[in-house]
Amino acid sequence: MRTSEFLLLTLREAPAEAETASHRLLLRAGMVRQLAAGIYNWLPLGLRVLRKVEGIVREEMNRGGAQELLMTGVQPAELWRKSGRWEEYGPELLRFRDRHEREFCLGPTHEEVITDLARGEIRSYRRLPICLYQIQSKFRDEIRPRFGILRGREFLMKDAYSFHLDEDCLRRGYKNMRAVYHRIFSRLGLTFRVVTADSGNIGGSVSEEFHVLAESGEDQIALSDSSDYAANLELTPPPPPGARPPPVVQRREVTTPGAHSIEEVAALLEIEARQCLKSLVVQGSDGGLILLVLRGDHQLNRLAAENRPEVAKPLRFATEKEIRDCFACSPGSLGPRGSPLPILADEAAAACANFCCGANLEGRHDTGVNWVRDLPEPHTAVLRLAQANEAAPGGGRLRITRGIEVGHIFQLGSKYSAALGAVVLDAAGKPRTLEMGCYGIGVSRVVAAAIEQHHDARGIRWPLPMAPFQVVVVPVNQHKSGRLRAAVTQLYERLLELGVEVLYDDRHARPGVLFADAELIGVPYWLVLGERDLDLNEAEFRIRDTDERLRWPIPEAAERTAHHIAGQFSRSSSVPDRTNVTDAVRM
Ligand code: ATP
Ligand code: MG
Repeated sequence: MRTSEFLLLTLREAPAEAETASHRLLLRAGMVRQLAAGIYNWLPLGLRVLRKVEGIVREEMNRGGAQELLMTGVQPAELWRKSGRWEEYGPELLRFRDRHEREFCLGPTHEEVITDLARGEIRSYRRLPICLYQIQSKFRDEIRPRFGILRGREFLMKDAYSFHLDEDCLRRGYKNMRAVYHRIFSRLGLTFRVVTADSGNIGGSVSEEFHVLAESGEDQIALSDSSDYAANLELTPPPPPGARPPPVVQRREVTTPGAHSIEEVAALLEIEARQCLKSLVVQGSDGGLILLVLRGDHQLNRLAAENRPEVAKPLRFATEKEIRDCFACSPGSLGPRGSPLPILADEAAAACANFCCGANLEGRHDTGVNWVRDLPEPHTAVLRLAQANEAAPGGGRLRITRGIEVGHIFQLGSKYSAALGAVVLDAAGKPRTLEMGCYGIGVSRVVAAAIEQHHDARGIRWPLPMAPFQVVVVPVNQHKSGRLRAAVTQLYERLLELGVEVLYDDRHARPGVLFADAELIGVPYWLVLGERDLDLNEAEFRIRDTDERLRWPIPEAAERTAHHIAGQFSRSSSVPDRTNVTDAVRM
């Protein structure tokens, strides 16, 4: 491809709304453009990368024994009513009516549709096990679409569904898919971890997430420094607190003007955050409000909170107005003592003594407060997130890192098949409800996650298997030299003949512009050629990732480049064990 004929739409400046590196770079490199909140068009450069990811996903799914199909994006409400999710799914499900007033939704996921298909088409155990997948756009009306395509409303997903006669077979199928996912993310050149996860509103019992490790990740994941424990932080139980010390000081009311956060109060009173309690007002399951109390240095585990029967799901924090109507003070002065609301305290907050908390009076706090003596013993639950360096379940200390969820695999069991009546006859002619697994990959999210993990101040550093082009040929001032144009054209054509995905930057622009764009769009290898190189009969081969530069004789440059790329590919595909995927656990 010649740049002069390619829709390259690079921008010097990142649009102000872009908060993350991937969002900025996707826009600056001209890969995507937003049409509406969370809805993006893919431009030719971006689409080349998206198709690469899709290609690897498709190849490995096929190799793992799955079969591709394509389901509809529009789904009838009736199926969702049968599974119970029409009501359960909430406002993320975009619902609408057709001209006959029939209700539909835009598919956020396809358990209902595939299970209905299986109910109609798979009648005998002889067809089992089977794994079907598609690569298709999903729509979720996310409350906060953000970070560009990392959390879009319309996004590309690979979703797979497996059907089995019994749980044993489901477990084998799940293990197979887990191995397929390992291969996919290894081949893409990403650093990732598999963690135990919550099944959310998809359902089922066992589920694991694949996370691309990146500082900017929305999820926190907890790893043990000495065992293979790895789980989403929300699922990691914190170690139990010690016993509550006895009361030793008197309660005292202090003025804390202007101090609203725990940090501000602790600094003002010259105490540590762990000696303070923080109070959060959320909606209760009975429609009223409830006060959650945590130790000042602890963070709320939102998943644990919303899974409590007293708390509404999804979790909703009270507005400032609701708090003022209830407490007659601002959120910064709340506390459990004299609270008009029911209290649910985290067990570590309940184990505190002689603590500081809001006095429920504007700009005032109480110090030296003790449960039982100054306020009733609270109801307790585990509401906090585990912290780094705490004891990890199963041994060792916890390390906490950030990740981007790019894949999620579930053992669903019979949740959908029972609801939709997907039953087959077994060998004895007896009806059996199908066991199901489901397996998602956020294909478009993978593109952004890869950038989060692979970029520098100058632009994207694509792992080779995802790169939009493998090589860019950059001539230095070719418009001034017919001799150079001829040599570069010859090099470009030879690379094409060798099957290398090459971009020839033939624009009439300053070399600085060409270099800056090559860096921004992240092409892994460059061949740079100027007049002086012609005299020396040498081309410069540059590696974007390491900035290494090699000098090769011009007549050999194309072959050496092709050879280098082939070497990289054979290295990356030999990382995970192929036999593990295809033979050992084939469904
Ligand atoms: P999240 O926790 O990030 O909201 P999820 O758990 O709701 O995701 P799943 O239902 O497990 O998502 O969907 C399968 C995969 O689809 C996810 O692992 C993720 O990679 C991708 N995905 C989900 N929501 C989005 C989104 N809004 N934008 C882009 N990709 C998404
Ligand atoms: Mg998920």
